[in-house]
Amino acid sequence: MERYYFDHNATTPVSPEVLEAMLPAMTEVYGNASSIHHFGQAARQKLDHARRQVALLLGATPEEIVITSGGTEADNLALFGMARHGHAITTTIEHPAVLVASGQLGSVTKVPVDSRGIVDPDSIRRALRSDTKIISVMHANNELGVIQPLEEIAKIAAEAGVAMHSDGVQATGKMAVDVKRLGVDLYSLSGHKFYAPKGVGALYVRKGTKLAPVMYGGHHERDRRAGTENVAGAVGLGRAAQWIIENGPKEWAHEGALRDRLEKSVLDRIPDSHVNGAGAPRVPNTSSMRFDGIDSDALLIALDLKGFAVSSGSACSSGATEPSHVLLAIGLTNEQSRSSVRFSVGRSNTAHQVDLLTDALVECVAHLRKLAPAYA
Ligand code: PLP
Repeated sequence: MERYYFDHNATTPVSPEVLEAMLPAMTEVYGNASSIHHFGQAARQKLDHARRQVALLLGATPEEIVITSGGTEADNLALFGMARHGHAITTTIEHPAVLVASGQLGSVTKVPVDSRGIVDPDSIRRALRSDTKIISVMHANNELGVIQPLEEIAKIAAEAGVAMHSDGVQATGKMAVDVKRLGVDLYSLSGHKFYAPKGVGALYVRKGTKLAPVMYGGHHERDRRAGTENVAGAVGLGRAAQWIIENGPKEWAHEGALRDRLEKSVLDRIPDSHVNGAGAPRVPNTSSMRFDGIDSDALLIALDLKGFAVSSGSACSSGATEPSHVLLAIGLTNEQSRSSVRFSVGRSNTAHQVDLLTDALVECVAHLRKLAPAYA
């Protein structure tokens, strides 16, 4: 059976050019980047090159890039490094890497979003306190793809003298990102969301930002992140960044066309289907749709049996499926959240695959609705 992957927001495959760049960094150039002999210096050169590539993608300088083990670590480093005992302001739709981590700080205010999934900068301003140390607002949401008005929020942070962090894990590689134009002090990204391997990411830390480390040890990453550098991972991250610098706009046009094709044909062909977060600016590859009367887990399984990988609007926590906190935050009921599915297209998807997915959806939704007593 042919299988089709429509879950690129969960993770992406490692691209051929990324793998090609990484292989020598694991075999020939295997030195410890802190060693002063030839082997170490060769690894250091590769690491420095990768850091320059990541910096270039974000409009930052190489010294402002801390290589981490991924998005979760970058988010935790930003929050704990800036506000361990202070007050943080964030939103109700963050990824758990920010939402749960911020709950471990001194105190946190979670600002709500509107029905499109957008946070009102004024509500961030109103949440400011004298002990606020950080504002953390994600750039693009992983479930809805909705993009936040970061520039406006960063201005509020700057006026208040508070650090501004953004979780850019779902934005990086899917839209142009310029940290200087955004005005953020800290920005997280993760390699495996844009065709680098899992387990590598980065935190942009604006020059002059006083960030305390979370892990203590050697003097790696300018004392901001101890631990022998993952040179091969960083090389992969850098190569993936370089690819986006060279091909980003073409890729985004391709993905946007596929996403729009999917939404249009689904809305045309499936009655009582809706786009969550419609009307908001979104990254081009993401679509959250809901189908009245459908259980998203049942739909996910039915699609998987036909060869299509998508993601449901619920999260598994302690053995029970909970409706997504993001979908509840935009005002959907439990039932509406549970009838939502996320499609995230990627580099290798084609219009033909989208059409096959639409056909499968039409069939599966009709079949499941016949079994749903509540759906009249
Ligand atoms: N933040 C967002 C918005 C994400 O979507 C993810 C991953 O799904 C993360 C953070 C965590 O990144 P990582 O998987 O690299 O730890």
